[in-house]
Order: sequence, then structure tokens, then C-alpha cells
Amino acid sequence: MKAEILAVGTELLMGQIANTNAQYISNRLPEEGVGVFYHSVVGDNPLRLKECLKIASNRADIIIMTGGLGPTLDDLTKETVSEFVGRKLVLHEESKNKIEEYFKRINRPMVDSNIKQAYLPEGSIVIENKRGTAPGCIIEEEGKILIMLPGPPSEMKPMFEDTVMPYFKEKSEFKIVSEILRIFGIGESAMEAMILDLIEKQTNPTIAPYAKEGEVTLRVTAKVNKDDNAVEILNQTINEIRKRLGDSLYSVGDKNLEQVVGELLISKNISIAIAESCTGGLVSSRLTDIPGISAVFNRGIVTYSNEAKQECLGVSVGKLEKFGAVSKETAIEMAAGVRKVSKTDIGVSITGIAGPGGGTAEKPVGLVYIALADENEVIYKELRLSGDRSRIRNMTALNVFDMIRRHISGRK
Ligand code: ATP
Ligand code: MG
Repeated sequence: MKAEILAVGTELLMGQIANTNAQYISNRLPEEGVGVFYHSVVGDNPLRLKECLKIASNRADIIIMTGGLGPTLDDLTKETVSEFVGRKLVLHEESKNKIEEYFKRINRPMVDSNIKQAYLPEGSIVIENKRGTAPGCIIEEEGKILIMLPGPPSEMKPMFEDTVMPYFKEKSEFKIVSEILRIFGIGESAMEAMILDLIEKQTNPTIAPYAKEGEVTLRVTAKVNKDDNAVEILNQTINEIRKRLGDSLYSVGDKNLEQVVGELLISKNISIAIAESCTGGLVSSRLTDIPGISAVFNRGIVTYSNEAKQECLGVSVGKLEKFGAVSKETAIEMAAGVRKVSKTDIGVSITGIAGPGGGTAEKPVGLVYIALADENEVIYKELRLSGDRSRIRNMTALNVFDMIRRHISGRK
């Protein structure tokens, strides 16, 4: 079943509001096996609305409209649709009673135009509106389905969930389910090469890669029969991908890298302290986004200057002078130092050149050292990042979280 979402409202065309209704509906419909093929937007104008209805009914089986169901003069969706399908508008008593009750309850006089909202195209399925006065409706006409919902998202969403989704569930024989896989530590093209045969198969489920700054994700989508166990079908593919990508696959679902790390630290009860230079507290800040992190996060210290690195972390003057602030030696001392002063299970450090200035031929912008100290050892990693200051800092933070994740995921 092909669907088109037709949003009605001049405000949308003028750019005063964004078409979040279309986004919401598009995100939800595939679950019930309905694919959205078109989005369109039209102003509060009956002629143009009719044109849109003509186009939509030629290319889609389902037209879902939002907006223009209210009591005012510019609200003309229902009138236009009923002309388009050649049905009369008839009074829906139940809706009329509800509107009357509503005005009694809020103690305001009701004007005739409010009753206009209780008129619906003859023979339609009425969608009750519990949050407002304008009901919606579903019209089945010559194999096509036309649905009208009010514009305000606070009314549209519950009506959509309570009536439209169950309506399609009943109708559809299959559903579309998907899951997001998150990957860190291998680039998009390397990852693609590792699972190319799976992507190229493009059967059911399908696999589609996406890349965002520093993050690589895969969306696995399956079209399954309504009564099939969708989780099982998706998991077969997900497990095959996991086999190929190993522990670079850090999460299945919505959780981002820092959430995964935060939850690992909490569940394993591993205490942590962080010493940051070029990231200026970014890593600590992201860690504190995780609810409950106070159980394990002892402190984050921003040691920007050499003196701070010496005074707060005990980095030796000799090392700083010999190797410089941006060096693996300094990073290692910072990690061990912050662990020691904080008496935590692990200490993490970051020192680098975020640019745009400060780079040399030997130590260019984007050179960053990160280190992690525990009771047995200090490990470090040299990063050579590209991009502007904000990208370098963001990529550093992601690499730090990934280092922590890999280090602690094997721990009991
Ligand atoms: P009302 O009874 O409130 O007049 P209505 O069904 O007539 O509802 P509109 O008048 O078209 O709907 O829009 C009312 C409000 O709903 C808009 O001002 C806007 O805030 C919101 N809205 C309308 N369409 C959309 C949309 N496509 N996406 C997000 N919000 C929308
Ligand atoms: Mg309106």
C-alpha cells in the first residue's frame, strides 16, 4: 500500500512552522506495512487542494491529510474533500454532543462555526478527538483510503495512534520493522567491505549504511508477515553482522556511545576520573549526561596549562620539557596521575592540538593523545584527526569513549 501525506496549511508554505506531522506519520506507518511514497503541502486554498487530491489519488492508495479541520473560515479540508469524493457533509450527533459538552465544561459560549466541526462526509469512519473539538475521519472510496486529521500535533498524534495505526494493522498482512546498529572504530567503507555480500543481497531484511560525523550506523529493515516474530527475523541478520564486525558494533538500538559506556561503568561498578586538556571538559560533560553516573564518576579535571598538569596530576616537569604537553608520555602521566589523586579504578586523559593554530610540522593540528590507566597498566592511543576545532574535539571525545568501552567490556 502506497501512501501520500498531504499537509494543508498556508503557515507551512510560508515557513512559519515545519511539517512535523508528516515526519511523525512517515516514521510510524511502515510498522503496519504502509510505505510512504510522497509528501506534499498545500495552502488553505480549495482549488489547489483539489488539484493536490487529484494528483495524490492518481499515485497513492492512501492519502493522509492533516490540518484545516478547525472551525474558522480558512479551515476547508473537509468541505473540499467531500466535494472531491462527491459525498455530502452530514451531522455526526455524537461529535456535536461532545463539542457542546466541551464548551459547557470550559464555560464559554459556543458559536455556530463550532458545530461545523461535527459535520463529516457521509459514510465515513469517525476518529474521535479527545484533546480538541475537531473529529477526524476515514473515507473508503473506490479502493482508496482518505484520512483527515487535525493540524495540532497534540491532537493529531493520539488520534493517529489510537485509531489510524490499529486501522492499518487490521488491514495489512505484513509489517515493516527495523533496527539501528551502531559502529565505531572502523570507517564506513571498511565496514561496507566486510559485509558487502550481505548488503548486495538486498533481499529481506535489507541493510543500509549511514555515516554521520565519526559515527557509522547500519539500518536493518525487514518486511514480515503480521503475525511473524519480527525480532527473530531481524536478529538472524544482526547476529551475522555482529560476527563480521566484532566488538566494533557497540549498540543495537537507540543508545549512543557515551550511554553504552556510562551504563557499562555503572553496571560493572568501575569508578572513573578524567583529566582533559584540549577537550576542555567535553568528555566529562557528556559522561554527566548519563543518569546515575554519579555512582562511578569521581571527577573531571580540566588541566589546560602545563602548571595545572603538574599541580593537579603530578606530571613531571622533566617529561613536559622533554616531550611537550602533547605527547604520549604526558598523556600516560596524566592518566596515571588523575587515577592516583582520585583513587579510582581507572583514570583517563586527553591532550592534543585542536587548532586552528598551534600546529607544527612535527606536531600538526589534529594530533591528540588519549590514555587510560588502571591498576595494571596504562594504555594510550595516538589520534591523527582532521577537520575544524569542533570536529577534532568531538572525534576525540568519541575515541575516548570507545577506548573506555573496549577496555572495560571484557571486565567482570
Ligand atoms: P484548529 O482546530 O486548531 O484550527 P486545524 O485542524 O484547523 O486545527 P490548522 O488550522 O491547519 O489545523 O493548524 C492548526 C495548528 O496546528 C497550526 O497553527 C500548527 O501549529 C499546527 N499544525 C498544522 N499543520 C501542521 C503540520 N503539518 N505539522 C506540524 N504542525 C502543524
Ligand atoms: Mg484551523
